[in-house]
Amino acid sequence: MSALHPDLKRVILSTEEIQTRVKEIARQIEHDYADAERVILIGILKGAFIFLADLSRELNIPHTVDFMSVSSYGDAAVSNGAVRLILDLRKPIKNEHVIIVEDIVDTGSTLQYLYNTLKLRKPASLRTCSLFQKKRESKDVPIDYKGFELPDVWVVGYGLDYADTHRTLPYVAELRAEVYE
Ligand code: 5GP
Repeated sequence: MSALHPDLKRVILSTEEIQTRVKEIARQIEHDYADAERVILIGILKGAFIFLADLSRELNIPHTVDFMSVSSYGDAAVSNGAVRLILDLRKPIKNEHVIIVEDIVDTGSTLQYLYNTLKLRKPASLRTCSLFQKKRESKDVPIDYKGFELPDVWVVGYGLDYADTHRTLPYVAELRAEVYE
């Protein structure tokens, strides 16, 4: 691996570790939805787009993808807890089997907002999938498919950014606190 960018403190998860876990999650979903006609994976932009692309290509059951975008943090690593819908789904999800695919759950505000918003549209089923969850107290949102628990530090890579930088790193790394403080 080439030298770490000076903004980064350490690699937390390697490409291989992430890919192995993505495959495991795909197997779990295939098992749980073996009898479903199809599943709709809803990727939350921008952070989940790389995870969604890998998960979708790994998944051997009929499924489609759609996207939503919400705003909660702006460019800074601090949240005020408010969630705003920026981009909605292209199609209705009534009577469909839906899985929300998130990159990371921190306080849980974003996932809770998405879950409540989509539940009102009466899908046949609604589950949640997040590749990462931070180890700290968060809202009581069920994460049905969870990849990894992470320490409470700002992480970048594999779709996750800091002010739109470091998003396309193939691994997940901890951002140095000096960069965002
Ligand atoms: P929550 O609403 O759960 O507090 O925050 C979830 C959202 O915050 C995620 O979808 C992600 O956009 C952002 N977020 C939280 N922690 C991190 C992090 O460590 N790195 C990055 N890049 N985004 C984060």
